[in-house]
Amino acid sequence: DAAVIWHPFTPQKNRIAPIPITKGKGTLLYDADGNTYIDAISSWWVTLHGHAHPYIAEKLYQQALQLEQVIFAGFTHEPAVRLAEQLLEILPGPFTKIFYSDNGSTSTEVALKMAIQFWWNQQQQHRKKIIALKNAYHGDTFGAMSVSDRSIFTLAFHDLLFEVIFLDTPTPENITTSIATIQQHAREVAAFIYEPLVQGAGGLKMYDAGLLNQLLTAAKSHDLICIADEVMTGFYRTGKIFASAYLNVPPDIICLSKGLTGGTMALGITACTSQIYDAYVQDDALKTFFHGHSFTANPLACTAALASLDLLQQYHTVKSIETIGAAIQNFALELAQLKVPIKNIRVLGTLLAFEITSGKDEYLNDISRFVTQTALQQGVYLRPLGNTMYIMPPYCISNEELNCVFSVIKNILQHYE
Ligand SMILES: *Cc1c(COP(=O)(O)O)cnc(C)c1O
Repeated sequence: DAAVIWHPFTPQKNRIAPIPITKGKGTLLYDADGNTYIDAISSWWVTLHGHAHPYIAEKLYQQALQLEQVIFAGFTHEPAVRLAEQLLEILPGPFTKIFYSDNGSTSTEVALKMAIQFWWNQQQQHRKKIIALKNAYHGDTFGAMSVSDRSIFTLAFHDLLFEVIFLDTPTPENITTSIATIQQHAREVAAFIYEPLVQGAGGLKMYDAGLLNQLLTAAKSHDLICIADEVMTGFYRTGKIFASAYLNVPPDIICLSKGLTGGTMALGITACTSQIYDAYVQDDALKTFFHGHSFTANPLACTAALASLDLLQQYHTVKSIETIGAAIQNFALELAQLKVPIKNIRVLGTLLAFEITSGKDEYLNDISRFVTQTALQQGVYLRPLGNTMYIMPPYCISNEELNCVFSVIKNILQHYE
């Protein structure tokens, strides 16, 4: 590995040797020495039903024997159509079309391009600015980076990112100013992109649905295209199937990835309403949406997504999501009683997050490294975002495993007492 691999989001000097993983089963990851780790963050927020799920594996095997890949311009296939049909039924809004891509970043890139060209196709080229939220994360490609918070992650590229109007993450104090900003710039704005209720990579920062409703209402009143980035929040992470289900105002475009395939394969989708799609149904070929990726709507990825939806629709999956949510609520109450330096304990659905307040409040401090190493020694995989500790377990996690995660967290917090 050290000779040939460059790992993501990993400082290359003084690197900690990565652990070779040979097997996954349920919530457990097995390393080459036979140690097991409870994957308490769903392998970067993707795994829903556990690792190497036999139902998904079987469906994939059958599909691989049938059709593994085909160009998606000029051809179509059943897994793509069935998945689109099923998604359109459950998505939180009046969506009519699914555009496939490869991952979360491409799903937001597609959304931004779709929204900007929507106006361009109607001779309103002046509407091309994007409004986004401070502290947002929408991916690592250039467009996605542009609408993400200007942070240490994007520092080397700031001059090259396109200009974006940033609103503060909504609070009762800043909401009036943000609405005024929307009003002031609306005529030149194409779209408003947001992570509904939880800003994921920005530190699992949670904000109020009522406030987001107000922003969305303001945005809609000026015809801004509202883009919900549910790449992380999708598929019950927040307790409801989509975070947008907590809101009164549905988005015009929604982006999904991560849990879409149950975390088995890379796949992204961008869904839109007929209003957006219709702007592309024109005689002029220049009005075409010229975007696509080699593996667009890969049949294996679509099959994995269909299998994951099957599993989600089973009663016990939804039941265990509720059970996990309740256990996490209780643990949050317990944490609040501890005499340890933590703050902002917050819970939504199956998500729990809080900040460890000792040391520097920065991503590059050593809290994350220390927590990860200590937890691994105790059989749990955690990966704090800077000093933000969080858990995002797969839905197959047992009570026993969840309690193990909780006690490892409590053990670690004692270090900061
Ligand atoms: C992870 C994430 C992305 C980017 O997805 P990738 O598949 O990692 O490119 C975009 N938006 C949100 C909200 C995410 O959490």
